[in-house]
Amino acid sequence: MSNYQAPLRDMRFVIHELVESHKICALPGYADCDADLIDAVLEEASRFAGDILSPLNPVGDRDGARWLAGADGKGEVRTAAGFADAYKQFAEGGWMALPCPPDHGGQGLPRLLAVAVSEMWKSANLSFSHVITLTHGAIEALMIAGSDELKDTWLPKLVSGEWTGTMNITEPQAGSDLAAIACRAVPQADGSFRISGQKIFITYGDHDMAANIVHLVLARTPDAPAGVKGLSLFLVPKFILDESGKPGEHNDVYCTSIEHKLGVHGSPTTTLVHGDHGGSTGYLIGQLGRGLEIMFVMMNSARLSVGTEGLGVAQRAWQLASEYAKDRVQGTDMTQKTGERVAIVRHPDVRRLLMTQQSHTEAIRALAYTIAALQDIAHQSQDPDERDSAHRRVELLTPVLKGWSTESSVELTSLAIQIFGGMGFVEETGISQYMRDARITPIYEGTTAIQAADLAGRKIARDGGKVLAALVADMRADAAALVDSGNATLAAIGTRIGNGLADLEAATAALLEKMATQPAAGLVVAEPFLKLFATVAGGWLMGKAAHKAVTAIAGGSDDPFYKSKIASAKFYADHILTRSSGLLATVQADNSLLLEMADEGF
Ligand SMILES: Cc1cc2nc3c(=O)[nH]c(=O)nc-3n(C[C@H](O)[C@H](O)[C@H](O)COP(=O)(O)OP(=O)(O)OC[C@H]3O[C@@H](n4cnc5c(N)ncnc54)[C@H](O)[C@@H]3O)c2cc1C
Repeated sequence: MSNYQAPLRDMRFVIHELVESHKICALPGYADCDADLIDAVLEEASRFAGDILSPLNPVGDRDGARWLAGADGKGEVRTAAGFADAYKQFAEGGWMALPCPPDHGGQGLPRLLAVAVSEMWKSANLSFSHVITLTHGAIEALMIAGSDELKDTWLPKLVSGEWTGTMNITEPQAGSDLAAIACRAVPQADGSFRISGQKIFITYGDHDMAANIVHLVLARTPDAPAGVKGLSLFLVPKFILDESGKPGEHNDVYCTSIEHKLGVHGSPTTTLVHGDHGGSTGYLIGQLGRGLEIMFVMMNSARLSVGTEGLGVAQRAWQLASEYAKDRVQGTDMTQKTGERVAIVRHPDVRRLLMTQQSHTEAIRALAYTIAALQDIAHQSQDPDERDSAHRRVELLTPVLKGWSTESSVELTSLAIQIFGGMGFVEETGISQYMRDARITPIYEGTTAIQAADLAGRKIARDGGKVLAALVADMRADAAALVDSGNATLAAIGTRIGNGLADLEAATAALLEKMATQPAAGLVVAEPFLKLFATVAGGWLMGKAAHKAVTAIAGGSDDPFYKSKIASAKFYADHILTRSSGLLATVQADNSLLLEMADEGF
């Protein structure tokens, strides 16, 4: 299997031409960033991803992380051979610091660049990338809610990558339902807390890649109210710092086992027991009772990151399928009828499979990078209205990207296996790893059902669909520009987008009506609504991309990339965007029989 090669041409196109990086680089705080710097960072990151992380991906899958038992349940995790060394190089290369704010050592580069770099880590080695996602989440939560003392103590080492972060939410009885969290935090005279309880499924909860691990733990204090309002957030280090600020005594938090999983074998999924030996020492982050609010900041950042995971895995699976399709000879050319045996890429249906992956993945990339640029505007713009509008769009689009990209990655990695035929089903080609790895992405950081409920309830019903309506108006203007462009292919794409937007508007009306009159009926169709919304948003961005490509060709460019982009956008409009009408019918349907059926009927 070849090593991963970053799709630099499409990344640069989306960053510079579609999302218009010059506007992002002009925002306050990004004075040092320009197109040359972005391209140089992309080149360097692609080398690291391709040369260092990609060769370790099958090693992590085959050998996995291991748990070594210790006395009194004090076990430890060893990552697969090569992971610790790769992580050392990653931290020393300054990659952890890239998207972090300049305070405490970050490089303060735009999120638009960071999302592309992050896509590369996820494509090359999803298991390895988890430690980056969780550390960035911990940094973000501390930046927002940590006291100056906590920030000064913990952030520099997290930003430099010397220490890593985790998110300790899930417990055996508390998965999607965070109100059921039972982990306890008892205040101590010195201002710290004693934490006790069991957390499960904690990614990189223990490992041998960094000198300390900073757990962010949701727990409740003795007098806290029941439910999510009683949750507070605590920083619980694996090693308590000594007088000189170095990792010293082992805190009372130990890894008692790791999971054996369908995929992401290289990423340790740990059970952590806090307080079996008297209580782990924790420090309150923010105010008591505000834990979930802060954790949501971390989760939203992690949700966008998991959305990028779906993109990265789908991209790499397509890359391998495309290589295989050009290499595997089978059958004769049905269109030329010369009788000559051909590579399977010549077969019309294999072309359809490849283009389904390619165009769908490009649409997801366009949406992910668009959201990253909106985040940059939401954080850096000097205009409060612009900031507010960008922030609302990010909030609206976060569950859309997370749900759509991850569900699509399962479908698209499955198509990659299809292209490999029987060789896709056997482990030796390595393609099956991508489908197995992809399968977790629609589950963690809130399942697709949780994303869909968030979209339908908090993001659409709560404001009567206002933020969505403003976005649809922008999409309509872009679709009209395609129809009026004088170019037949663009006009055809524009018409399809117009139809998709009509479906989205009708579906929004149906959803709002259901959420207002019978929320259960709304929640039954929230997931198909999310897919409809995402599919149309993807079509809108692919249409814009085709418009840019046609303009570039008209301006004299003979770069074959632009012709592929137009073909890809046209295919998306005809084969994927058209799914919106079926989804609309589902969103409008009456589901009373389903809701009224007795549980025994299932
Ligand atoms: C590999 C891996 C890594 C993980 N990493 C972490 C981590 O680092 N930190 C951490 O804290 N957790 C982590 N998790 C846990 C993960 O976030 C949870 O598994 C996930 O949130 C789902 O919770 P659950 O497994 O308890 O499923 P459940 O909540 O029991 O859900 C089961 C099914 O019921 C559905 N469901 C449940 N409630 C609702 C509802 N209200 N509406 C509609 N449908 C609903 C779900 O969509 C799902 O289909 C990880 C899990 C895995 C497998």
